[in-house]
Amino acid sequence: MTQVVVIGGGIVGISCALTLQSQGHEVTVVEPGPVGEGASWASCGCIAVGEIVPLSQPGMLMKVPGWLLDAEAPLSVRPGSAVKLLPWFARFAANARRSRMRAIASDLARLTFAATADFKAQLADIGHPELLVERPVIKLFDDDNDRATMRGAFDLARELGCTIDEVTGQEAHEIDPAIASDFRHAALLRDWSFVTDPRLLVETMMQTFSSRGGTIESGEAVDFVRDGQQVKSVGLRDGRMISADDFVIAAGTHSKSLADKLGVPLRMEGVIGYSTALKDSGVDLRHTVFYAKGGFGITPYQDALAVAGTVEFADLGAKPNWNRADVLVGRAHRVLPGLRAERAERRMGRRPFTPDTRPIIGRSRRLANVTFATGHGQLGLTLGSTTARLIADVIAGRMPDIDIQTFSPDRFST
Ligand SMILES: Cc1cc2nc3c(=O)[nH]c(=O)nc-3n(C[C@H](O)[C@H](O)[C@H](O)COP(=O)(O)OP(=O)(O)OC[C@H]3O[C@@H](n4cnc5c(N)ncnc54)[C@H](O)[C@@H]3O)c2cc1C
Repeated sequence: MTQVVVIGGGIVGISCALTLQSQGHEVTVVEPGPVGEGASWASCGCIAVGEIVPLSQPGMLMKVPGWLLDAEAPLSVRPGSAVKLLPWFARFAANARRSRMRAIASDLARLTFAATADFKAQLADIGHPELLVERPVIKLFDDDNDRATMRGAFDLARELGCTIDEVTGQEAHEIDPAIASDFRHAALLRDWSFVTDPRLLVETMMQTFSSRGGTIESGEAVDFVRDGQQVKSVGLRDGRMISADDFVIAAGTHSKSLADKLGVPLRMEGVIGYSTALKDSGVDLRHTVFYAKGGFGITPYQDALAVAGTVEFADLGAKPNWNRADVLVGRAHRVLPGLRAERAERRMGRRPFTPDTRPIIGRSRRLANVTFATGHGQLGLTLGSTTARLIADVIAGRMPDIDIQTFSPDRFST
Protein backbone atom coordinates (compact mmCIF):
# COMPACT_ATOMS: atom_id res chain seq x y z
CA MET A 1 0.00 0.00 0.00
CA THR A 2 1.39 3.41 -0.99
CA GLN A 3 1.13 6.33 1.43
CA VAL A 4 0.03 9.51 -0.33
CA VAL A 5 -0.25 13.03 1.10
CA VAL A 6 -2.65 15.35 -0.73
CA ILE A 7 -1.94 19.02 0.04
CA GLY A 8 -5.18 21.02 -0.14
CA GLY A 9 -8.76 20.03 0.65
CA GLY A 10 -10.66 22.00 -1.99
CA ILE A 11 -12.71 20.25 -4.64
CA VAL A 12 -9.63 19.10 -6.56
CA GLY A 13 -7.74 17.85 -3.49
CA ILE A 14 -10.63 15.94 -1.99
CA SER A 15 -11.52 14.40 -5.38
CA CYS A 16 -7.93 13.18 -5.68
CA ALA A 17 -7.92 11.89 -2.08
CA LEU A 18 -11.11 9.87 -2.56
CA THR A 19 -10.00 8.35 -5.86
CA LEU A 20 -6.57 7.41 -4.51
CA GLN A 21 -8.18 5.93 -1.40
CA SER A 22 -10.59 3.86 -3.49
CA GLN A 23 -7.57 2.48 -5.38
CA GLY A 24 -6.03 1.16 -2.19
CA HIS A 25 -3.68 3.96 -1.16
CA GLU A 26 -3.36 5.18 2.41
CA VAL A 27 -4.19 8.85 2.02
CA THR A 28 -3.70 11.92 4.23
CA VAL A 29 -5.17 15.32 3.30
CA VAL A 30 -3.43 18.42 4.67
CA GLU A 31 -5.82 21.37 4.86
CA PRO A 32 -5.49 24.49 7.05
CA GLY A 33 -8.96 25.95 6.86
CA PRO A 34 -12.53 24.84 7.09
CA VAL A 35 -13.01 22.33 4.30
CA GLY A 36 -14.35 23.78 1.06
CA GLU A 37 -13.68 27.42 1.88
CA GLY A 38 -11.16 27.99 -0.91
CA ALA A 39 -12.38 28.90 -4.38
CA SER A 40 -14.59 25.79 -4.30
CA TRP A 41 -16.93 27.49 -1.87
CA ALA A 42 -17.52 30.54 -4.05
CA SER A 43 -18.12 28.72 -7.30
CA CYS A 44 -21.19 28.94 -9.49
CA GLY A 45 -21.67 25.20 -9.15
CA CYS A 46 -21.61 24.25 -12.83
CA ILE A 47 -20.21 21.15 -14.43
CA ALA A 48 -19.30 23.31 -17.38
CA VAL A 49 -18.80 20.82 -20.18
CA GLY A 50 -17.73 22.81 -23.22
CA GLU A 51 -16.55 25.90 -21.32
CA ILE A 52 -13.41 25.61 -23.38
CA VAL A 53 -12.70 28.93 -25.04
CA PRO A 54 -9.72 30.38 -23.13
CA LEU A 55 -9.77 33.69 -21.33
CA SER A 56 -6.98 34.92 -23.60
CA GLN A 57 -8.67 35.88 -26.85
CA PRO A 58 -7.58 37.89 -29.87
CA GLY A 59 -7.99 41.61 -29.21
CA MET A 60 -8.22 41.14 -25.47
CA LEU A 61 -5.02 43.01 -24.63
CA MET A 62 -6.45 46.16 -26.19
CA LYS A 63 -9.13 46.02 -23.53
CA VAL A 64 -6.77 45.98 -20.52
CA PRO A 65 -6.62 49.81 -20.13
CA GLY A 66 -10.44 49.81 -19.90
CA TRP A 67 -10.33 47.06 -17.26
CA LEU A 68 -7.97 49.25 -15.22
CA LEU A 69 -10.35 52.17 -15.32
CA ASP A 70 -13.73 50.55 -14.68
CA ALA A 71 -13.83 48.82 -11.28
CA GLU A 72 -17.35 47.54 -11.95
CA ALA A 73 -16.73 45.99 -15.37
CA PRO A 74 -17.20 42.19 -15.53
CA LEU A 75 -13.45 41.97 -16.13
CA SER A 76 -11.10 44.26 -14.24
CA VAL A 77 -7.52 44.66 -13.05
CA ARG A 78 -6.79 46.20 -9.64
CA PRO A 79 -4.56 49.19 -10.48
CA GLY A 80 -2.29 48.45 -7.48
CA SER A 81 -1.70 44.91 -8.71
CA ALA A 82 -1.12 45.59 -12.39
CA VAL A 83 2.68 45.81 -12.24
CA LYS A 84 3.05 42.61 -10.21
CA LEU A 85 0.84 40.81 -12.70
CA LEU A 86 2.85 41.89 -15.76
CA PRO A 87 4.89 38.65 -16.20
CA TRP A 88 1.66 36.61 -16.07
CA PHE A 89 -0.02 38.99 -18.53
CA ALA A 90 2.90 38.73 -20.94
CA ARG A 91 2.36 34.96 -21.16
CA PHE A 92 -1.39 35.43 -21.25
CA ALA A 93 -1.01 37.79 -24.22
CA ALA A 94 1.13 35.26 -26.08
CA ASN A 95 -1.81 32.83 -25.90
CA ALA A 96 -4.26 35.28 -27.42
CA ARG A 97 -3.40 34.20 -30.96
CA ARG A 98 -6.14 32.44 -32.88
CA SER A 99 -4.11 29.26 -33.46
CA ARG A 100 -3.19 28.94 -29.77
CA MET A 101 -6.75 29.64 -28.73
CA ARG A 102 -7.97 26.73 -30.84
CA ALA A 103 -5.31 24.40 -29.47
CA ILE A 104 -6.24 25.32 -25.89
CA ALA A 105 -9.96 24.89 -26.60
CA SER A 106 -9.32 21.48 -28.08
CA ASP A 107 -7.28 20.39 -25.01
CA LEU A 108 -9.99 21.63 -22.65
CA ALA A 109 -12.66 19.89 -24.72
CA ARG A 110 -10.89 16.54 -24.23
CA LEU A 111 -10.96 17.07 -20.49
CA THR A 112 -14.44 18.52 -20.06
CA PHE A 113 -16.06 15.85 -22.25
CA ALA A 114 -14.92 13.29 -19.69
CA ALA A 115 -16.12 15.40 -16.75
CA THR A 116 -19.77 14.39 -16.40
CA ALA A 117 -19.08 10.65 -16.45
CA ASP A 118 -16.18 11.01 -14.00
CA PHE A 119 -18.16 13.25 -11.67
CA LYS A 120 -21.20 10.95 -11.72
CA ALA A 121 -18.98 7.96 -10.98
CA GLN A 122 -17.50 9.80 -8.00
CA LEU A 123 -20.96 10.79 -6.71
CA ALA A 124 -22.16 7.20 -7.13
CA ASP A 125 -19.11 6.00 -5.23
CA ILE A 126 -19.89 8.28 -2.25
CA GLY A 127 -23.60 7.40 -2.45
CA HIS A 128 -24.86 10.90 -3.25
CA PRO A 129 -25.96 11.07 -6.92
CA GLU A 130 -28.63 13.63 -5.93
CA LEU A 131 -25.92 16.30 -5.55
CA LEU A 132 -25.91 16.70 -9.35
CA VAL A 133 -28.81 18.31 -11.25
CA GLU A 134 -28.77 17.34 -14.92
CA ARG A 135 -30.55 20.28 -16.50
CA PRO A 136 -29.21 22.47 -19.31
CA VAL A 137 -27.80 25.84 -18.44
CA ILE A 138 -29.40 28.89 -20.07
CA LYS A 139 -27.47 31.89 -21.43
CA LEU A 140 -29.45 35.09 -21.92
CA PHE A 141 -28.94 37.92 -24.40
CA ASP A 142 -30.55 41.35 -24.48
CA ASP A 143 -30.33 41.85 -28.23
CA ASP A 144 -28.55 40.87 -31.48
CA ASN A 145 -25.34 42.69 -30.51
CA ASP A 146 -25.23 41.01 -27.14
CA ARG A 147 -25.65 37.58 -28.73
CA ALA A 148 -23.00 38.39 -31.34
CA THR A 149 -20.37 38.62 -28.56
CA MET A 150 -20.78 34.86 -28.04
CA ARG A 151 -20.90 33.85 -31.72
CA GLY A 152 -17.21 32.90 -32.03
CA ALA A 153 -17.22 30.94 -28.76
CA PHE A 154 -20.40 29.05 -29.71
CA ASP A 155 -19.08 28.21 -33.19
CA LEU A 156 -15.82 26.86 -31.79
CA ALA A 157 -17.56 24.90 -29.03
CA ARG A 158 -19.97 23.34 -31.56
CA GLU A 159 -17.14 22.49 -33.91
CA LEU A 160 -15.45 20.64 -31.04
CA GLY A 161 -18.60 18.67 -30.23
CA CYS A 162 -20.75 20.74 -27.83
CA THR A 163 -24.53 20.89 -28.13
CA ILE A 164 -25.86 24.44 -27.97
CA ASP A 165 -29.46 25.16 -28.98
CA GLU A 166 -30.37 28.75 -29.68
CA VAL A 167 -33.91 29.78 -28.74
CA THR A 168 -35.79 33.03 -28.30
CA GLY A 169 -35.88 34.85 -24.99
CA GLN A 170 -39.60 34.08 -24.79
CA GLU A 171 -38.87 30.34 -25.15
CA ALA A 172 -36.32 30.59 -22.34
CA HIS A 173 -38.99 32.22 -20.19
CA GLU A 174 -41.39 29.36 -20.99
CA ILE A 175 -38.74 26.78 -20.04
CA ASP A 176 -38.09 28.59 -16.75
CA PRO A 177 -40.82 31.12 -15.90
CA ALA A 178 -38.64 32.74 -13.20
CA ILE A 179 -36.59 34.34 -16.01
CA ALA A 180 -37.69 37.75 -17.29
CA SER A 181 -39.70 37.47 -20.50
CA ASP A 182 -38.08 40.35 -22.40
CA PHE A 183 -34.70 38.86 -23.33
CA ARG A 184 -34.41 38.71 -27.12
CA HIS A 185 -32.23 35.60 -27.44
CA ALA A 186 -31.12 32.68 -25.32
CA ALA A 187 -28.99 29.56 -25.69
CA LEU A 188 -29.41 26.19 -24.01
CA LEU A 189 -26.07 24.61 -23.16
CA ARG A 190 -27.14 20.97 -23.25
CA ASP A 191 -23.90 19.40 -21.99
CA TRP A 192 -23.79 21.40 -18.76
CA SER A 193 -25.28 20.53 -15.38
CA PHE A 194 -24.94 21.92 -11.86
CA VAL A 195 -24.53 20.82 -8.25
CA THR A 196 -27.00 21.49 -5.46
CA ASP A 197 -24.34 23.18 -3.30
CA PRO A 198 -20.55 23.14 -3.85
CA ARG A 199 -19.76 23.54 -0.17
CA LEU A 200 -22.02 20.62 0.77
CA LEU A 201 -20.40 18.62 -2.02
CA VAL A 202 -16.87 19.16 -0.68
CA GLU A 203 -17.97 18.52 2.92
CA THR A 204 -19.79 15.31 1.94
CA MET A 205 -16.75 14.08 0.03
CA MET A 206 -14.51 14.87 2.98
CA GLN A 207 -16.82 13.02 5.41
CA THR A 208 -16.86 9.95 3.15
CA PHE A 209 -13.08 10.06 2.91
CA SER A 210 -12.81 10.20 6.71
CA SER A 211 -15.37 7.48 7.30
CA ARG A 212 -13.35 5.17 5.04
CA GLY A 213 -10.25 5.63 7.17
CA GLY A 214 -8.67 8.65 5.44
CA THR A 215 -6.70 11.08 7.61
CA ILE A 216 -7.26 14.82 7.58
CA GLU A 217 -4.43 16.85 9.11
CA SER A 218 -5.46 20.35 10.02
CA GLY A 219 -2.42 22.41 9.08
CA GLU A 220 -0.68 24.46 6.44
CA ALA A 221 2.04 22.90 4.33
CA VAL A 222 5.03 25.23 4.23
CA ASP A 223 8.07 23.21 3.21
CA PHE A 224 9.47 19.87 2.10
CA VAL A 225 12.34 17.59 2.97
CA ARG A 226 14.00 16.14 -0.12
CA ASP A 227 16.56 13.59 -1.04
CA GLY A 228 17.51 14.47 -4.61
CA GLN A 229 14.45 14.06 -6.81
CA GLN A 230 12.57 12.29 -4.04
CA VAL A 231 10.41 14.23 -1.59
CA LYS A 232 10.52 12.53 1.79
CA SER A 233 8.13 14.62 3.88
CA VAL A 234 6.10 17.79 4.00
CA GLY A 235 6.55 20.25 6.86
CA LEU A 236 3.58 22.04 8.39
CA ARG A 237 3.63 25.55 9.85
CA ASP A 238 3.26 24.18 13.40
CA GLY A 239 6.45 22.17 12.96
CA ARG A 240 4.96 18.74 12.31
CA MET A 241 6.42 16.66 9.48
CA ILE A 242 4.40 14.12 7.48
CA SER A 243 6.24 11.48 5.49
CA ALA A 244 4.80 9.62 2.50
CA ASP A 245 5.73 7.74 -0.66
CA ASP A 246 3.89 10.19 -2.94
CA PHE A 247 2.65 13.78 -2.70
CA VAL A 248 -0.11 15.59 -4.58
CA ILE A 249 -0.04 19.40 -4.73
CA ALA A 250 -3.68 20.51 -4.89
CA ALA A 251 -3.65 23.75 -2.90
CA GLY A 252 -5.42 25.90 -5.50
CA THR A 253 -3.82 29.32 -5.86
CA HIS A 254 -1.34 28.51 -3.09
CA SER A 255 0.12 25.65 -5.11
CA LYS A 256 2.43 28.15 -6.79
CA SER A 257 4.39 29.00 -3.63
CA LEU A 258 4.60 25.32 -2.66
CA ALA A 259 5.88 24.46 -6.14
CA ASP A 260 8.48 27.24 -5.82
CA LYS A 261 9.81 25.48 -2.70
CA LEU A 262 10.21 22.37 -4.83
CA GLY A 263 12.01 24.23 -7.62
CA VAL A 264 9.12 23.93 -10.08
CA PRO A 265 8.12 27.39 -11.35
CA LEU A 266 4.37 27.44 -11.98
CA ARG A 267 2.77 30.44 -13.66
CA MET A 268 -0.54 30.91 -11.96
CA GLU A 269 -2.52 33.81 -10.52
CA GLY A 270 -5.59 33.87 -8.32
CA VAL A 271 -8.31 35.53 -10.36
CA ILE A 272 -10.94 36.77 -7.93
CA GLY A 273 -14.63 36.03 -8.29
CA TYR A 274 -17.54 36.68 -5.95
CA SER A 275 -20.64 34.73 -5.10
CA THR A 276 -23.60 35.87 -3.03
CA ALA A 277 -25.98 33.28 -1.62
CA LEU A 278 -29.49 34.73 -1.37
CA LYS A 279 -31.82 32.97 1.04
CA ASP A 280 -35.60 33.50 0.83
CA SER A 281 -35.05 34.96 -2.65
CA GLY A 282 -38.75 34.76 -3.51
CA VAL A 283 -37.87 33.25 -6.90
CA ASP A 284 -38.30 29.64 -7.98
CA LEU A 285 -35.48 29.33 -10.51
CA ARG A 286 -34.86 25.80 -11.80
CA HIS A 287 -31.89 26.26 -14.13
CA THR A 288 -28.52 27.94 -13.88
CA VAL A 289 -28.72 31.10 -15.96
CA PHE A 290 -25.85 33.21 -17.27
CA TYR A 291 -26.17 36.83 -18.24
CA ALA A 292 -22.84 37.45 -19.95
CA LYS A 293 -23.40 41.18 -20.36
CA GLY A 294 -23.84 41.47 -16.59
CA GLY A 295 -20.82 39.21 -15.96
CA PHE A 296 -22.57 36.70 -13.72
CA GLY A 297 -24.45 33.46 -13.44
CA ILE A 298 -27.22 32.47 -11.03
CA THR A 299 -27.51 28.92 -9.74
CA PRO A 300 -30.41 27.56 -7.69
CA TYR A 301 -28.65 25.84 -4.81
CA GLN A 302 -30.78 23.71 -2.52
CA ASP A 303 -31.34 26.45 0.06
CA ALA A 304 -30.33 29.66 -1.71
CA LEU A 305 -29.80 31.32 -5.07
CA ALA A 306 -26.12 31.94 -5.76
CA VAL A 307 -25.27 35.01 -7.85
CA ALA A 308 -21.66 34.48 -8.91
CA GLY A 309 -19.16 35.97 -11.30
CA THR A 310 -16.67 38.68 -12.22
CA VAL A 311 -13.09 38.20 -13.22
CA GLU A 312 -10.88 40.48 -11.16
CA PHE A 313 -7.13 40.30 -11.58
CA ALA A 314 -5.42 41.13 -8.29
CA ASP A 315 -2.37 39.83 -6.48
CA LEU A 316 -2.70 37.11 -3.86
CA GLY A 317 -2.74 39.43 -0.86
CA ALA A 318 -5.54 41.65 -2.24
CA LYS A 319 -8.57 42.11 0.02
CA PRO A 320 -12.08 41.45 -1.32
CA ASN A 321 -13.89 44.34 -2.93
CA TRP A 322 -17.40 43.42 -1.78
CA ASN A 323 -18.88 46.20 -3.84
CA ARG A 324 -18.32 43.97 -6.88
CA ALA A 325 -20.46 41.23 -5.34
CA ASP A 326 -23.19 43.79 -4.56
CA VAL A 327 -23.10 45.12 -8.13
CA LEU A 328 -23.80 41.60 -9.42
CA VAL A 329 -26.75 41.17 -7.08
CA GLY A 330 -28.11 44.52 -8.25
CA ARG A 331 -27.86 43.39 -11.88
CA ALA A 332 -29.52 40.04 -11.08
CA HIS A 333 -32.89 41.82 -10.83
CA ARG A 334 -32.71 42.28 -14.60
CA VAL A 335 -32.79 38.49 -14.99
CA LEU A 336 -35.14 37.56 -12.14
CA PRO A 337 -37.94 40.07 -11.57
CA GLY A 338 -39.20 39.90 -8.00
CA LEU A 339 -35.83 38.79 -6.62
CA ARG A 340 -35.40 39.53 -2.92
CA ALA A 341 -31.86 40.09 -1.70
CA GLU A 342 -32.24 40.96 1.98
CA ARG A 343 -30.72 37.70 3.29
CA ALA A 344 -27.36 37.68 1.56
CA GLU A 345 -24.11 35.89 2.38
CA ARG A 346 -21.12 36.97 0.30
CA ARG A 347 -18.19 34.76 -0.62
CA MET A 348 -14.96 35.43 -2.45
CA GLY A 349 -12.79 32.89 -4.22
CA ARG A 350 -9.53 32.95 -6.15
CA ARG A 351 -9.65 30.86 -9.29
CA PRO A 352 -6.18 29.41 -9.89
CA PHE A 353 -5.58 30.59 -13.48
CA THR A 354 -2.64 29.71 -15.69
CA PRO A 355 -1.81 32.07 -18.56
CA ASP A 356 -2.86 29.41 -21.09
CA THR A 357 -6.11 28.52 -19.21
CA ARG A 358 -4.99 24.86 -19.13
CA PRO A 359 -4.89 23.14 -15.74
CA ILE A 360 -1.67 21.70 -14.36
CA ILE A 361 -1.97 17.92 -14.13
CA GLY A 362 0.92 15.50 -13.86
CA ARG A 363 4.48 15.09 -12.64
CA SER A 364 7.43 17.41 -13.12
CA ARG A 365 10.55 15.74 -14.53
CA ARG A 366 12.43 17.39 -11.63
CA LEU A 367 10.66 15.28 -9.00
CA ALA A 368 10.08 11.54 -8.84
CA ASN A 369 7.12 11.39 -6.46
CA VAL A 370 5.17 14.68 -6.65
CA THR A 371 2.06 15.07 -8.81
CA PHE A 372 0.42 18.42 -9.51
CA ALA A 373 -3.36 18.84 -9.61
CA THR A 374 -4.03 22.55 -9.80
CA GLY A 375 -4.47 25.59 -12.06
CA HIS A 376 -8.06 24.75 -13.01
CA GLY A 377 -9.15 28.37 -13.34
CA GLN A 378 -12.89 28.49 -13.94
CA LEU A 379 -13.16 24.71 -14.25
CA GLY A 380 -12.08 23.28 -10.90
CA LEU A 381 -15.45 21.93 -9.94
CA THR A 382 -16.00 20.59 -13.44
CA LEU A 383 -12.65 18.84 -13.66
CA GLY A 384 -12.02 17.70 -10.09
CA SER A 385 -13.06 14.07 -10.64
CA THR A 386 -11.39 13.78 -14.04
CA THR A 387 -8.17 15.23 -12.64
CA ALA A 388 -8.37 12.73 -9.77
CA ARG A 389 -8.66 9.81 -12.19
CA LEU A 390 -5.71 11.07 -14.23
CA ILE A 391 -3.39 11.67 -11.29
CA ALA A 392 -4.29 8.25 -9.84
CA ASP A 393 -3.11 6.79 -13.16
CA VAL A 394 0.13 8.76 -12.96
CA ILE A 395 0.82 7.62 -9.39
CA ALA A 396 0.06 4.00 -10.30
CA GLY A 397 2.34 4.20 -13.33
CA ARG A 398 -0.55 3.64 -15.78
CA MET A 399 -0.86 5.53 -19.06
CA PRO A 400 -3.82 7.97 -18.67
CA ASP A 401 -6.50 7.58 -21.36
CA ILE A 402 -6.36 11.35 -21.95
CA ASP A 403 -3.08 12.78 -23.20
CA ILE A 404 -1.88 15.08 -20.37
CA GLN A 405 1.36 16.32 -21.93
CA THR A 406 0.04 19.83 -22.57
CA PHE A 407 -0.99 20.07 -18.89
CA SER A 408 2.55 19.42 -17.67
CA PRO A 409 3.87 21.55 -14.76
CA ASP A 410 7.13 21.86 -16.71
CA ARG A 411 5.61 23.91 -19.54
CA PHE A 412 6.35 27.18 -17.70
CA SER A 413 10.08 26.50 -17.33
CA THR A 414 11.06 27.98 -20.70
C1 LIG B 1 -17.20 33.15 -8.59
C2 LIG B 1 -16.67 31.82 -9.04
C3 LIG B 1 -17.47 30.98 -9.82
C4 LIG B 1 -16.99 29.75 -10.23
N1 LIG B 1 -17.83 28.90 -10.92
C5 LIG B 1 -17.38 27.69 -11.30
C6 LIG B 1 -18.25 26.77 -11.96
O1 LIG B 1 -19.43 27.03 -12.16
N2 LIG B 1 -17.74 25.57 -12.34
C7 LIG B 1 -16.44 25.22 -12.12
O2 LIG B 1 -16.02 24.14 -12.53
N3 LIG B 1 -15.60 26.05 -11.46
C8 LIG B 1 -16.04 27.27 -11.05
N4 LIG B 1 -15.19 28.12 -10.41
C9 LIG B 1 -13.79 27.75 -10.24
C10 LIG B 1 -13.60 26.78 -9.11
O3 LIG B 1 -14.22 27.27 -7.95
C11 LIG B 1 -12.11 26.57 -8.89
O4 LIG B 1 -11.49 26.19 -10.10
C12 LIG B 1 -11.89 25.47 -7.87
O5 LIG B 1 -12.48 25.81 -6.65
C13 LIG B 1 -10.42 25.20 -7.66
O6 LIG B 1 -10.37 24.13 -6.76
P1 LIG B 1 -9.05 23.80 -5.99
O7 LIG B 1 -9.34 22.64 -5.12
O8 LIG B 1 -7.92 23.71 -6.95
O9 LIG B 1 -8.74 25.13 -5.14
P2 LIG B 1 -9.48 25.68 -3.87
O10 LIG B 1 -10.94 25.46 -3.93
O11 LIG B 1 -9.00 27.08 -3.68
O12 LIG B 1 -8.92 24.77 -2.70
C14 LIG B 1 -7.55 24.81 -2.35
C15 LIG B 1 -7.44 24.33 -0.92
O13 LIG B 1 -6.06 24.27 -0.57
C16 LIG B 1 -5.93 24.75 0.74
N5 LIG B 1 -4.55 25.24 0.92
C17 LIG B 1 -4.05 26.42 0.51
N6 LIG B 1 -2.75 26.52 0.89
C18 LIG B 1 -2.44 25.37 1.54
C19 LIG B 1 -1.26 24.89 2.15
N7 LIG B 1 -0.13 25.62 2.17
N8 LIG B 1 -1.30 23.68 2.73
C20 LIG B 1 -2.43 22.92 2.72
N9 LIG B 1 -3.57 23.33 2.13
C21 LIG B 1 -3.58 24.55 1.54
C22 LIG B 1 -6.97 25.86 0.86
O14 LIG B 1 -7.31 26.09 2.23
C23 LIG B 1 -8.12 25.29 0.06
O15 LIG B 1 -9.05 24.58 0.84
C24 LIG B 1 -15.65 29.35 -9.92
C25 LIG B 1 -14.87 30.17 -9.12
C26 LIG B 1 -15.36 31.40 -8.67
C27 LIG B 1 -14.49 32.24 -7.79
